[in-house]
Amino acid sequence: MSELTGKVQTVLGLVDPDQLGRTMTHEHLTYKHLTTKFDFMYVPPPPGDEAVAENPFQMQHMHWLQQNPYSCHENLQLKKDNDAVRDELLAYKKAGGGTVVENTTTGIDRDVSSLRQLAKDTGVHIIAGAGYYVDCTHTDATKKMSVEKLTDTIVSEVIHGADGTDIRCGVIGEIGTGWPITDSEKKVLQATAHAQAQLGCPVIIHPGRNHAAPAEIVRILQEAGGDISKTVMSHLDRTIFDEGELLEFANVGSYLEYDLFGTEMLNYPFNLEVDMPSDSQRVKILAFLVKEGYEDKIVVAHDIHTRNRLTINGGHGYSHILKNIVPKMLTRGISQHQVDKILIENPKHWLTFK
Ligand SMILES: [Zn+2]
Repeated sequence: MSELTGKVQTVLGLVDPDQLGRTMTHEHLTYKHLTTKFDFMYVPPPPGDEAVAENPFQMQHMHWLQQNPYSCHENLQLKKDNDAVRDELLAYKKAGGGTVVENTTTGIDRDVSSLRQLAKDTGVHIIAGAGYYVDCTHTDATKKMSVEKLTDTIVSEVIHGADGTDIRCGVIGEIGTGWPITDSEKKVLQATAHAQAQLGCPVIIHPGRNHAAPAEIVRILQEAGGDISKTVMSHLDRTIFDEGELLEFANVGSYLEYDLFGTEMLNYPFNLEVDMPSDSQRVKILAFLVKEGYEDKIVVAHDIHTRNRLTINGGHGYSHILKNIVPKMLTRGISQHQVDKILIENPKHWLTFK
């Protein structure tokens, strides 16, 4: 038993799990710097669209931004809209939201001090993430670290605080992996499992964009002593499309996260093979998983990480699931009781330290 056992760790300290309420398990709220780091996601605009990308936040460019969110440097600078994010969190609370898990880890410019301020200003519980994002964001120093050193660093971010502060992380992740999984990513996965075995904490994973990636990650975590029943597999909406394969993966016992609600785009630039589902299709998959008996394993979010998705810029905002998706779920065979499991009970059980 540690002081963490039976509690959830937010950026403002430990809270009783029953205090969390409705929880988005995968969002981003801010980054430390205005213009750096997150730019690794930049994709050049389609030929002829350069001028639009230079001046994006206008009514006539809203659809373009929705289709090409990564083709505009300005759009990747979420930090610039910090005040708008604060307002959005207040709106989220008003819409019935209680908690946000902020998944920004080392490599994509985590800013725990801003998270603490946002939590103080809004009353929304915010949980920060420990660990490392995908290989291309690992520094040389990170790549040289042993599994033991990586483990110690992750444990310290949960026990003592992250990035030189006393602000403690309450989950490990999102831990980033690509496809194929690199040596450095594999070490981070092993360190994640070792840290989880020590701490009894929740873990959340960003899999590579290949249908085989989630199962391979689970195999690595399991071999290193990880607790799959306290692990969330993110981004399933763009990763596993075959229903049989999805059920096979669901059997391993991780939480199944559909976290790109609000993302509707024809061409997914990070894997052009992928047909990004619509929100209606996401709801349909959730209804399928519920029917197959996985209502205790589903969690949801928007994974907002670009400015065009904030309401101030014409986007759907952090309350989209609560305001628009939940009513749709209720018309598609998911009961209120099951919705409450997805939004309240499942995140609560996942986030509670063992
Ligand atoms: Zn994310």
